[in-house]
Order: sequence, then C-alpha cells, then structure tokens
Amino acid sequence: MTPLEKIIHSEIALNGPMTLGRYMSVCLSQYYGARDPLGAAGDFTTAPEVSQLFGEMIGAWLADTWMRLGAPQKFLLVEAGPGRGTLMSDIWRATKRVPGFHEGAEIHLIETSPALKEKQRATISHELIRWHDSMETIPDDAPLLFIANEFLDALPIEQLQYEGGKWLQRVVTTGENNSLQIGLKFPDAPLVSSCNKLTLSPREGDIFEVSSAGNMFIEQLSFRIKKQEGAGLFIDYGYAKNSFGDTLQALQKHKSVSIFHEPGQSDLTAHVNFAHVAAQIGAMGLHASKIVRQGTFLKTLGIETRLTVLLDQADAKQSDDLKTGYERLVADEHMGKLFKVLGFWSGNVELAGF
Ligand code: SAH
Repeated sequence: MTPLEKIIHSEIALNGPMTLGRYMSVCLSQYYGARDPLGAAGDFTTAPEVSQLFGEMIGAWLADTWMRLGAPQKFLLVEAGPGRGTLMSDIWRATKRVPGFHEGAEIHLIETSPALKEKQRATISHELIRWHDSMETIPDDAPLLFIANEFLDALPIEQLQYEGGKWLQRVVTTGENNSLQIGLKFPDAPLVSSCNKLTLSPREGDIFEVSSAGNMFIEQLSFRIKKQEGAGLFIDYGYAKNSFGDTLQALQKHKSVSIFHEPGQSDLTAHVNFAHVAAQIGAMGLHASKIVRQGTFLKTLGIETRLTVLLDQADAKQSDDLKTGYERLVADEHMGKLFKVLGFWSGNVELAGF
C-alpha cells in the first residue's frame, strides 16, 4: 500500500466516502509534485514533446493573434500547466523575428508542481519568467495571450451516475481487503444544479462528468480576458458535444491502469467537455471559436509548409523524426482527431485556424 493510500483510507474511516474530486486532487498533487511524468521514460507524452512543429505553429498563431489585436506594446503571455516548458521554449524561438513581440511579452506560467517548475526554469531561456499557483496573481494591467495544452484534463472532476431515475454522486469508499472502490451517495448541492441544467436525457447507468476546478479556472480566465482584452487557446483531448460516459483514466508507463492502482503514482485525467467549456466562455461575454480537431487546426495554420521548409535543411535522421512527429500530431489515428482546439477572444476580430 502506498503511503498516500493509507492516508486516503484513514480519511475515509474518519469522514466517510471521499469525493472523486478530492481523490483526484490528493493523488495528482503527489503525482505531479515530485516528478517529471513526461516523455518515453515517464508515463505519457504530449504534443510539444512529440515535435518542435507543434510549438512553432502555436507560436505563429500567437504572433498572428497579437497583430490582429493591434500589436499591444506590452502584453502577458500566459501558459497554464507548462510541463517541461517545451511549448513555451518553442514558441519563444518561433517568434523571435516578429518585430515587437519579444520586447512586449511578459511570460507568466501557472504551475503547481515544484519538480516541473525546476524543469521549466532550465528549459525556457527568458530571464523574466514569473510563476503563479493560479490565475489570481496574474497581473491585470495588460492584454493577455493565453495557452494551455493538456491542462484542463489534469484538473479534478466529479462523476454522477443515473440510477433508479435519479442522479447519484460517485465517490471513493473502502472495499474488501482494504481495497478502494467506487460507491454512490446523494450528490452535493452544486452538482444537483449542474444536473438540473442538462439538456440531454439520461438512461439508466449513464455517467455525467463535471469539473468544478475546470469551471472555476475558465471563469477566472474569461473574466480577465474580458477585462484586459486578449485571446487564448485550450488544446486537449475531449469531446465536442455534450455526452455521457466515464472518461476518468489512469496512465502509468504509457499503459492504462485502474484509477485505484498505487494512488499518487499514476497520471489521472478526464476528457474535456469542450461544448461545456465553449458555452461557459461565451456566457462570460467572450467569443468562442468552433471546436476543431488538432489535425485540422495545425493544417489550417500551415504545418505542411513548415514541415517542407524544415525537411529541406534536415539530415536523414532529422527528416525521419520530423515526418514521424508530423504524423503523430495530425493523423486521425494518432492525436489529430481525439485532440481538440478551442479559441477564445475579446473584441471583434477574426482569428486564424478556425
Ligand atoms: N502542457 C504540458 C504539460 C501537460 S501535463 C505539455 O503539453 O507537455 C499537465 C501540467 O499541468 C503539468 O505541468 C502539471 O504540473 C500542471 N498542473 C496540473 N494541475 C495543475 C493545477 N491545478 N494548477 C496548475 N498547474 C497544474
């Protein structure tokens, strides 16, 4: 039994069943707090780690968006959940020839993991980076350009299950032989109101997911972009229409394991409900784009042209890496279809890629 598992059992013995959100949150803070989980030697790989092409295209989108917003002299370049810092580092390199962009940018990273902050410090060659635990401490004196890749999927969720004609909340309880298992209880009040707003009709056994942490983050971010002006992108795996299903999963060494396997030692994620995110952003008074597939988004931004340019200067090994990376980013059977991109912005501008 992991030390964290013991703590979870004691908490359940003391307070009764634990919400899934609390379970995810204690597991994830231990998981991310102590390690770098990314890459071949870790538990999972993300788009910026797959190929430099990803960060270069996001950099191009940011530079283009900055110009469409009137090229503000000073702006905040904010990334949430920057992992190893690879995406920001590629963005920074890709934008160095855009006159005024580097001079105007202040980089702010929202990151809670001490281990990953260290990695980011080593990866990003910019002396003026500032770190934050949440949106709250991000300055409010300049327009904001925001990006987050595989961030929302790492925030805790709650699950509701439709049983006997009503919604019940899925919680973590102690089962036989000191195992952890899913139980059901009457839902907490805020979740009842989420269920009441549902326009889909559930069938017996259907599971509906709600991310209170995600909702709070999106609300804070939208409020700031509305007030300070700006734009942003959420890139993540998820679904484009409201739907039911259990998407909570645990990954360890690139393999799927039970969410109760070695608590705190595997990556727990849930698919992002992009329809809900877009609706929430819209309700906060911002423009939300169509929800597009990552493959489509990157192709619309011109990833194929960029690939050709890089291939012209590449040796045989580099060519292979570039082509493989490109396929993994855009092909339907890899990240191209499951990963979605949602753009959002203040004011009346059209943004590229949608
Ligand atoms: N964007 C990176 C890493 C994705 S992994 C990439 O694409 O490679 C998720 C990232 O979110 C990690 O950096 C993790 O430490 C961070 N994270 C998870 N929960 C967080 C929270 N509540 N607040 C801020 N950062 C968080």
